[in-house]
Amino acid sequence: MTFEEIREKDDRYVMHTYARFPVAFVRGKGATLWDTEGKDYIDLTSGIGVNALGHDNPLLTAALEKQMHLFMHVSNLYYTEVCVTAAEKLCRASGMSRVFFANSGAEANEGMIKTARKYSEDRYGAGRNRIITLRDSFHGRTVTTLEATGQDQFHQYFLPFTGAFDYAVPNDLENLKSLVTKDTCAVMLELIQGESGVHVLDPDYVKALAAFCREKDLLLLDDEVQTGVGRTGAFYAYQKFGVTPDIVSSAKALGGGLPAGAVLVGEKCRDVLGPGQHGSTFGANPMSMAAANVVIDTVSRPDFLAAVEEKGKKLTEGILTLHSDKIAEVRGIGLMIGVVLRDPSERSSLVGKLLEKGVCVLTAGADVIRLLPPLVITDGEIASALSRMAEVF
Ligand SMILES: *Cc1c(COP(=O)(O)O)cnc(C)c1O
Repeated sequence: MTFEEIREKDDRYVMHTYARFPVAFVRGKGATLWDTEGKDYIDLTSGIGVNALGHDNPLLTAALEKQMHLFMHVSNLYYTEVCVTAAEKLCRASGMSRVFFANSGAEANEGMIKTARKYSEDRYGAGRNRIITLRDSFHGRTVTTLEATGQDQFHQYFLPFTGAFDYAVPNDLENLKSLVTKDTCAVMLELIQGESGVHVLDPDYVKALAAFCREKDLLLLDDEVQTGVGRTGAFYAYQKFGVTPDIVSSAKALGGGLPAGAVLVGEKCRDVLGPGQHGSTFGANPMSMAAANVVIDTVSRPDFLAAVEEKGKKLTEGILTLHSDKIAEVRGIGLMIGVVLRDPSERSSLVGKLLEKGVCVLTAGADVIRLLPPLVITDGEIASALSRMAEVF
């Protein structure tokens, strides 16, 4: 189909929930994508932080081809080697104790919230079920994860919510403490707030918060849906922040492009959920698990993580070296980068021009261009992205 034919059908048959860019991709390789016209783009998005190993990764396609011929699905009522292997790898890479596999970030967060509430009810009885999240957070699109999201713009149209979340000001421990009541069971956060603008939490705040939570037996719930699986140069970002959460949610990059989510629990919560108390038809599906095994093997290697850090530095320094008066600041960790614009009203035209020059980027918050390139992006692709960006900035 031509681009116009695709756009026409989308307009007619697909719900209009996305403001799409005027491009249809037909294939990709590494961090490069090609559209219907054969034009190439450097992909600084990897989906939205999904294709950690890039497009058409030979290890990934080989593992999927193999699994595809064995079976694509059997239910969680049976054991599979591919699932337990992924779970073991994830526990080894994270230091967590057990895993529940889901299919998406929001679902992983739902599982995390359910585990936290059940832990509290088991230990303290019913009613201790409120969760504190941070302002400017993003936790997903289901009804409960929308409520957990600390941004007013997400708290409309789909009411009623349960009213069981409180919102603390980031990096202000006193404010968070003032929200704790006898009914609080957990604190949930992103160590780098992605969707709202790539805001890195202050590591001292995170450490003090973790200590406070431990003291009060409030579970620390770490949403690593975006920051996880190597994005920051650590397998999970908490390993860089020097804290140990009680529960971690993971998704986006975990399946390397296939839907995979995970709830990882530490020792405190390893036995909280029992048979029949949580589940998912598609969770741990063999294709996603085959992909996850390759992703975890690749990304958990120390040399791979060091390279992510190196590439993050290269891209960040390259952008700073553009000396553009349009850019106020470049922030982030590893390959999770926020380019903060001086004039937010210029953002959509800048993003459009970047796309014209063949660079795909994301946005975040009101004034940020967000870069989440494939972790395997090459030096050549970084150089090419920078020279295309130089023309726009
Ligand atoms: C993307 C994201 C989610 C939601 O993930 P889905 O797979 O879209 O449900 C949740 N939390 C964070 C931090 C995210 O970046």
